[in-house]
Amino acid sequence: MSELNLVLLGPPGSGKGTQGERLQEDFRLPYYATGDILRAAVRDESELGKAAKEYMDRGDLVPDEVIIGVITERLDEPEAADGFILDGFPRTIPQAEALDSELEKLGRALTAAILVQVTDEEIVRRLGGRRTCAKNGHVFHVQFDPPKEPGVCDIDGSRLLVRDDDQPDVIRHRLEEYREKTEPLIDYYDSKGLLRRVDGSASPDEVGDRIRALLATLRIEEDIDV
Ligand SMILES: [Zn+2]
Repeated sequence: MSELNLVLLGPPGSGKGTQGERLQEDFRLPYYATGDILRAAVRDESELGKAAKEYMDRGDLVPDEVIIGVITERLDEPEAADGFILDGFPRTIPQAEALDSELEKLGRALTAAILVQVTDEEIVRRLGGRRTCAKNGHVFHVQFDPPKEPGVCDIDGSRLLVRDDDQPDVIRHRLEEYREKTEPLIDYYDSKGLLRRVDGSASPDEVGDRIRALLATLRIEEDIDV
């Protein structure tokens, strides 16, 4: 079977994290969310992990070459031999180019960049409906997962709040930021013929089905090429 080397793209609230986890289960591929990968490297005290920790301890952004090093290290592990799912990386064109050249050194290439698309209105509805327990951070949703009593945590009875991150104007700002940073990346993968768009507005199950159908098509195309 051929490799399935995937990058997931999508705005906050698109549900791409959920889809990444499903792909991980369905295809038995490692799922690498950038934050997790950095924390794992720090915990394992690899050389790059130690370098990353110095930046994180100072509250600085971990520079590209360290992140790229940490990710490349993982992609070269046996667990990623049949493929991988990257989420949160690359974020910029230089990172995307670095990923391409590192993969090339390993004799590999990306299979696809999957963009989970959701309208701004839907994202505001999804993220804006979240209510977080003040005491223990339990998360509810006024529409999708409402607490038994409005404004009160089912688990510990604490007050439910709208986190700063989930305020509508903050959500819109995050979306603008996302667009500014990610739009060029979308064009980059589109120009390479790697971009696949998936409508993320449906239920997580339906979106998952669409992604699986898309990957099946990719494999058929690949077989025909052979
Ligand atoms: Zn709670």
